[in-house]
Amino acid sequence: AIPRTSTRAFSASARAQADVNAAVFLEDKGGELVPAAANAVTAAKKLGGKVTGILIGKDEASLEKAIAMSKKLGLDALLVRHAPALEHALAEPTAPVLAELVKKQGFTHLAGPHSALGKNIFPRVAGLLDVQQISDVMSIQDAETFTRPVYAGNAISTVRSQDAIKLFTARASTWEPAQPTESECSVDVAAAENVGPEQAQWVSEEIVKSERPDLASAPTVVSGGRGVKSKESFDSTIIPLADALGAAIGASRAAVDSGYAENSLQVGQTGKVIAPNLYVAVGISGAIQHLAGMKDSKTIVAINKDADAPIFQVADVGLVADLFEAVPELTKKIEEA
Ligand code: FAD
Repeated sequence: AIPRTSTRAFSASARAQADVNAAVFLEDKGGELVPAAANAVTAAKKLGGKVTGILIGKDEASLEKAIAMSKKLGLDALLVRHAPALEHALAEPTAPVLAELVKKQGFTHLAGPHSALGKNIFPRVAGLLDVQQISDVMSIQDAETFTRPVYAGNAISTVRSQDAIKLFTARASTWEPAQPTESECSVDVAAAENVGPEQAQWVSEEIVKSERPDLASAPTVVSGGRGVKSKESFDSTIIPLADALGAAIGASRAAVDSGYAENSLQVGQTGKVIAPNLYVAVGISGAIQHLAGMKDSKTIVAINKDADAPIFQVADVGLVADLFEAVPELTKKIEEA
């Protein structure tokens, strides 16, 4: 006989699933959706109920492209809320708008990307709604049960939330982006209610423009570490290999701290968490904090002169070699192929 407690647990969870009315905060950058928004939509769909997208910005005109992109994500509805103070999605004015929408629309779940913006806004929304935030969600077992990494990805914890509203950020690299559909999606555009105080001021932003694929979403990434030894050799080994493979460039924290590569290229626990089809680690030892950002890559290639380097424990293909010989040779062979 099934024990009473588990029968109750099952019916409670099945009920939770049936009543799902989820919302997704759709992050945009310069009026276009960021790729992680489509991953968060997939996570919200996994809950098994209705999914509404929420776009927030200065005015409707500035969100035109993002609205068109959102309509193709297979959402049931799209809410667009605007106010001049929401132009740069600062957390203070934005969080109360989201909290108000959740309360008014009766959303059971609010999902968003586990991006710098998501990590800034969501804890405030959680505070305003008096619920806990569930961060960096990797899988959804049912409408109240989620898994997320702990200890830099060395363990996975299963979290069951009894909060009335489940608020979570989704790890982009473990959710496929929602595929474009032609299905109908109602769009409701209105002035935002409950805009929060402008306690912070947007001053300026420096965006590095690059023709290269974006590190967060590129299918192939070539990363360099401290073993590359200088910025000059980073530029003369890692960049040509990345060019030959049409890859994005990444770096270990040691390489970033030594000035070989930009901060925005750091892969790892305190950098970007990615899962490309191919990750090539050059002169990187494989510290756990670095592995936390790339060990879910489909194929990992490591080039390191130390046969005992921990990176070889996660590598599918390992080459014990001096990178200054191996990388130019490999680059030449790929260019000739
Ligand atoms: P090293 O560990 O010094 O490794 C260099 C490797 O290059 C060695 O294995 C060596 O054998 C090899 N090598 C040297 N010369 C050659 C050659 N000629 N040919 C081939 N191979 C060669 N690190 C991150 O990367 N990302 C993070 O997000 C991150 N977050 C952190 C957060 C915290 C809280 C802490 C404490 C640390 C964090 N770190 C992070 C740092 C991390 O612990 C390591 O220090 C760092 O990853 C080491 O970088 P590395 O592998 O490039 O350098």
